[in-house]
Amino acid sequence: MSTSIIRKSISRRPEPLDTIVKTWNPTRWGRPSAPTVMRFPSSRIPTTSRPASFDGRNGSCGTCKAHRPVSRFDSKESSGALDRDLQVGEYRFVAAGTSGRREGTMMNGTVTVLDKGTVRIHSYMAPANSVNVTSQIIETPERLIVVDGQFLEAYADEAAEYAHALGKPIDRLVITHGHPDHYAGAARWGAPLVSLPEVHDAIVARGDVHDPTGRVVPVADVTPDPSVRVGEEVIDGVLFTFEHIVGGEAHDQLLISLPEHGVLVAQDLVYHDVHLYFGENDIAGWQEAIELLAGAEGYDTVLAGHGLPATAAVFDEVRRYLTDGAELLGADGDAYKKAIIARYPDYAGQFVIDIANGYLFADRSH
Ligand SMILES: [Zn+2]
Repeated sequence: MSTSIIRKSISRRPEPLDTIVKTWNPTRWGRPSAPTVMRFPSSRIPTTSRPASFDGRNGSCGTCKAHRPVSRFDSKESSGALDRDLQVGEYRFVAAGTSGRREGTMMNGTVTVLDKGTVRIHSYMAPANSVNVTSQIIETPERLIVVDGQFLEAYADEAAEYAHALGKPIDRLVITHGHPDHYAGAARWGAPLVSLPEVHDAIVARGDVHDPTGRVVPVADVTPDPSVRVGEEVIDGVLFTFEHIVGGEAHDQLLISLPEHGVLVAQDLVYHDVHLYFGENDIAGWQEAIELLAGAEGYDTVLAGHGLPATAAVFDEVRRYLTDGAELLGADGDAYKKAIIARYPDYAGQFVIDIANGYLFADRSH
């Protein structure tokens, strides 16, 4: 992997996150709408095939097409740490570093608005019952660039409606990696879908997926155009860099950075106060990736794939969790789950561990 792009030095050191003025203009997103009432029966997490990268490399039985993760979607998880105060139909406006918070009756997810001058980032985080998965809406002067498309249709619709209310066209929706929580809802945005070629291949190899409500998402609806290229691209006057990170949370991950604005769009290379997904059995690869990110200078804002936006301090948290995971993850998935939850009792997304265990230990039964 190349380190040249995100290490690129920048002339102006960005403001620390806690001094950024958060903006929320209710007149732009103020029209009342009926809250979406979600019901989450216990149902299977996407199971149509194993991840494309699973074959052999993690020592599990990659050739067996019969076994599937057995994790169940647990609606009790909706009382997770990140939104334990929220009821369906409420929204929370989070202003990092201030006590600002407003609640109303419109959104299920959480939007954090980061004002970076010419760029404004609207980070949409789904509730805990959708793994706190995020979509980043990057607002440039004339356009929106969306990163990741949500898992559940209802949350994709909610985030897309928020984006549309900004009054700018969605230039493209970039899918960062081939896990369905980031793309099952992507078609709902009505935007061109793009990804790295490797991510495209992983999505196609996985085929149709189910979201946690059981809805089937045909792969044809969410297959991205494999047009993302590693390197720099100026979009609407804003410099973006795209890097291909191999290994870790997923075999192929796109890392996006905005070097002039101090923003790393890390997505699933970083989880923030959410249990990490080890289903690819590649903690060492993830540790390598985190060191790469942590070594990038001039980035004060880190957008996580699960959880709220963070500062660079989040790298230490992820490092610590990876170290703990490597220590605790043995031959017994249940024991691991108990042990890691004991160390991170306040983290959301405990069922992420179940999903990962479904992949890691499914072959033990045969
Ligand atoms: Zn994810």
